[in-house]
Amino acid sequence: MIAVARGTTRTAAITIIGGGIMGAVLAYQLARRGMREVVVLERETVASGSIGRATGGLRQQFADELDIIFAREGLRFYRQFIAEMQAEAVPASPPPPPFYQYGYLFLVSDDEAWQAMQGYVALQQRLGVPSELLTPMEVVARWPGLSLITEDLRGASFCSTDGYTDPAAMTRALIGAARRLGVEVYEQCPVLAIQTTRGRVQAVQTSQGRVATPLVINATGVYAALTARLVGIDDLPVYPLRRQLYLCEAVAGLPAELPMVVDQATGFHFRWRDGGLLLGLPHQPSPAEQAASRALETPAFDLTLDPGVWPQIERVIPRRFPALAGLRLRRAWAGLYEMTPDEHPVLGPTEVEGFLCACGFSGHGLMHAPLAAQLLTDYLTTGKSSTLDIEQFGLQRFREGRLLPATRLL
Ligand SMILES: Cc1cc2nc3c(=O)[nH]c(=O)nc-3n(C[C@H](O)[C@H](O)[C@H](O)COP(=O)(O)OP(=O)(O)OC[C@H]3O[C@@H](n4cnc5c(N)ncnc54)[C@H](O)[C@@H]3O)c2cc1C
Repeated sequence: MIAVARGTTRTAAITIIGGGIMGAVLAYQLARRGMREVVVLERETVASGSIGRATGGLRQQFADELDIIFAREGLRFYRQFIAEMQAEAVPASPPPPPFYQYGYLFLVSDDEAWQAMQGYVALQQRLGVPSELLTPMEVVARWPGLSLITEDLRGASFCSTDGYTDPAAMTRALIGAARRLGVEVYEQCPVLAIQTTRGRVQAVQTSQGRVATPLVINATGVYAALTARLVGIDDLPVYPLRRQLYLCEAVAGLPAELPMVVDQATGFHFRWRDGGLLLGLPHQPSPAEQAASRALETPAFDLTLDPGVWPQIERVIPRRFPALAGLRLRRAWAGLYEMTPDEHPVLGPTEVEGFLCACGFSGHGLMHAPLAAQLLTDYLTTGKSSTLDIEQFGLQRFREGRLLPATRLL
């Protein structure tokens, strides 16, 4: 039953807008820390946004310190959450989400990238991630079923503790756990307006009624910039980037414990899913598409498949993975990354008192949301963080040109 009855007002101490992975993990962590009257408002259904279209990869192999720390902590959180769900075995609840800890394998073919990869692996190891460098012969020996073309391969990096999960199931499980701790979650409940008085948040107006609240968290993913406009913030730089995924029939002979395999030169990657093979290839948007995206024009949010990507995949496959030739496509879909200029999230307070950001994960939200939620929970409960300084992720950094360092690996 919906408690925000049409036309009525209810109150909440903290209102999270968005029932994606960020909203889910934040609601759960706030409730775990004893916060009461936490409400999640989702305009469609839980996990209907980008997280429901994601690959589900959890990798700690990143190229810069912040990304590695976020991913390392994200992985730690999910493993613990799954273990706790298994131990609790709540009656009539869905089973805990899976975690296929088969690793991530990056195949590197050019000298410069190989040089760089050695530095990234050293950095990962310094930060406690057990990644390793492999020779082409070692890759073939470990995964003979991949039937790789190795002539031009310089080597690979592999981390056995990386893996992949079902991102929508994980989001729903977190929402379920948050509900059991007292969080109220409303679906089909879009936030239409946010009322402020003298620069302070007072209430949000939804399609189902009004919620009087002093604190609003913007966890609306790729729509975060539009949500920020509801409080008069016109410069939150979160914009969409379309990505496409393809689910194909299974290929005989591939290892049962298939890592997420990434051809680093092209970005082509694949893993098992639903008894088939899920694959993707990042494609560069045209200058016109990039401009539309930055301007938040409606077509930039379009989820229609670009037919030009599949032929590119068909060209990439035989050069490295002849075993995948002749793949049979089951279905394909598009989703949106929520990009920021430095590809790090926007977290924490804004100039509008009571309006906080939790968005802009730039395609890494599954991995990075747990630590983001911890930083926000620390900020809201104690005012300071036990891990990273949340201030560095503030919106203000873009206005002052203090972008965070980032190097994209995939
Ligand atoms: C193809 C693809 C593959 C990906 N693969 C990975 C991966 O392997 N690993 C990884 O870590 N990340 C991956 N990502 C990125 C990841 O999906 C996002 O970073 C993540 O979903 C961001 O989480 P979020 O909760 O901020 O946003 P979302 O998941 O988009 O959730 C935001 C929610 O807010 C709701 N909302 C918006 N406006 C309103 C409103 N006004 N009122 C109420 N609700 C509103 C939306 O309906 C939505 O449900 C991938 C993304 C795509 C598209």
